[in-house]
Amino acid sequence: MSETSAEKIVSQLTEAVHEHRVLPGMKLSEDEVGEVFGVSRTIVRQALRTMAHGGLVSIERNRGAFVAKPSIKEAREVFEARALLEPQTARAAAERATAADVALLEEHIAQEHAAIEKGEAGRALNLSGLFHVEIARIADQATIEAFIRQLVSRSSLVIALYWQRRTALCESNAHHALLDAFRDNDPDRAEELMKGHLVDLLSQLNLREGPSETRSLREALGG
Ligand SMILES: [Zn+2]
Repeated sequence: MSETSAEKIVSQLTEAVHEHRVLPGMKLSEDEVGEVFGVSRTIVRQALRTMAHGGLVSIERNRGAFVAKPSIKEAREVFEARALLEPQTARAAAERATAADVALLEEHIAQEHAAIEKGEAGRALNLSGLFHVEIARIADQATIEAFIRQLVSRSSLVIALYWQRRTALCESNAHHALLDAFRDNDPDRAEELMKGHLVDLLSQLNLREGPSETRSLREALGG
């Protein structure tokens, strides 16, 4: 019973983070979370620990739990790991993709577009991340799928903090092109497209050290 409650909190809070309704750095007070979900602090603590394990929450001694706030270094690492895993995974997915898989990905893109049209940017963002997870599922590599799921999940924090373009996230062109490569069962093209897509995503992040992060006021003003 308690397990089910903790799982429910994890899944709802995770979705809220993925959809940018709950933002990096936000305090997650045990009392408040407990009240919202109508559960005990023990269950809340259990849920927050699970989320900390997945990199979405950071638990600080004596301060409590917060939505994780990846540093520039961590942000870069998340995307570097994705660049390492996802092109190869897209290749494997293209080798295996069935008509049913392609139909599912198509449906996914359609839902994402519907969300954008309704102005639900957060939901669109979440769906666009899930497109990547779906590719890993098609590749039928469970271990890598779990890694990619976590990386995509943490990407939503990175995007909340460092994204510089306020338009649709994954360019739908890129996802459409990938879809075509899966439909044609073309591994080379799928791998190349995913490689390019991740480079493009990374280039949309502002991962330069901001002056306020590295310099004191004296240094900033005194040069
Ligand atoms: Zn994408």
